[in-house]
Formats: sequence, structure tokens, C-alpha cells
Amino acid sequence: CGIVGIVGNSKAADILVKGLEKLEYRGYDSAGIFVADSSTDHLVKSQGRIKDLKGKIDSSVQGKIGIGHTRWATHGEPSEQNAHPHTSENGRFVLVHNGVIENYDELKKIFLESDHFYGETDTEIAVHLVEYFSKQGLDTKEAFKQAVAEIRGSYAFGLIDKEDRTVIYVAKNKSPLLIGLGEGFNVVCSDAMAMLEQTNQFVEINDGEIVIVTKDSVQIEDQTGTIIERSPYEAKIDL
Ligand code: GLU
Repeated sequence: CGIVGIVGNSKAADILVKGLEKLEYRGYDSAGIFVADSSTDHLVKSQGRIKDLKGKIDSSVQGKIGIGHTRWATHGEPSEQNAHPHTSENGRFVLVHNGVIENYDELKKIFLESDHFYGETDTEIAVHLVEYFSKQGLDTKEAFKQAVAEIRGSYAFGLIDKEDRTVIYVAKNKSPLLIGLGEGFNVVCSDAMAMLEQTNQFVEINDGEIVIVTKDSVQIEDQTGTIIERSPYEAKIDL
């Protein structure tokens, strides 16, 4: 029920977990993070509290890029397997999702056989679709755009391609998502509260937009591929 992401900060794992703790108030039944540096990556998921997730994260985990998620199960029981982040079949793409993919069953039937799925969430189709379109020869941004274009429902997505560990791809529709601007890093979050310790400069994302976030750039595109310029606002919330 909450998303966090960070790119460009070597304390990625810590910052993601702290961010998830700030999102606990939204309610959740499980949580997970994916963190990577240039050569290693870690996917850690847990049913239950953030505290349980923390217990499973090796304190030596290094990473400059990552995404995290608290899940409020809508499709598929609360379990470690159904917890996010979700991974594509070839392991290349990792994704978190808030919301509900209404046409997931239809999409499974059109694009993939059921034996491609390891869990019961509506979300898993999204990451498999990115892989599907990537295998058709599209670059990751286009594959993500194509996947998002097929999806009906509510979503905030954060996606990482392990073959380019400098980018977080983001899209939203009817679920909240913000980009926070840091010095030498940038963050993604469902609620500014999650990242206020890192920055107070946030950029709003509109429904239908695709955002490409790197450590020093935030590129917002609308559905036609036109680049949108949008200034940040200052979040003023008492900590
Ligand atoms: N529908 C997704 C699931 O059940 C995401 C739920 C959420 O927003 O946490 O896994």
C-alpha cells in the first residue's frame, strides 16, 4: 500500500526501510525491498511487519538503487511469495505496484500462459509484460510504456532494469506517487512523509505520465512522448 524508491545514494537499503516505516500508517500485510549496486543485488521480502523485513536484511547490504513496497493484498493471500517487489521470468526486471490491475486475467490470457506465473497477485502480469515487450525488441522505457498502456485499473509502479542500474521507471494512474529531488540522488514515494528526511522538494506526477528517474535527472513524459517541464514544490510538514 506504499512505494518508495531511491537512486544515487549508497545508503539505499536504510533509506528504503525508513521510508517504509513512515508509510506503515497506510496499513499493510507484507513488505519487501530490492537493492542493487553495480554488481550485486538483493531482493528481500517478508510477510508481517517492517520489523520482520529488517531482521532479514543483512546489514552489509550495499546498494545505490532500490525500490521498496508495503503490500495491502487485494489479489492473492498475504505471503512472502506474493509480496512485492515482483521479478520477471528471466530475472531482469523488478517491479513494485500499488493499486489494482482490473484486466490482469485478460492480459494473462492474451500475452502469457499461466505456467509463467509464480504467485497469485494481479501485479505479476505487469512485470511479465515488461519482459514480454522487451523481448519483442523494445528498449526498457518503451517496453514499460507498452505494458502500462495495456493495463486498466489503478497503479503506481516503480520498475528497475538490472541491465541498467541507474534508472527507476515510474508511472501512475489513480494511485499517489511523487518524485523527491535530492543532491546527487532522487527518490520516489507514495507520500512525501516517507522521504522528508531526505528532501523537501517534490515533483507531482499526473495520471498517464511516465517518469524516468536517475540520480541527477527526472524526465516526465506524457502518453504521446512529449516531455513535460514541471517545477518542484516545497513540502511543509512538521516532523
Ligand atoms: N493489488 C496488488 C496486490 O495485491 C497491490 C496491492 C497494494 O496496493 O498494496 O499485490
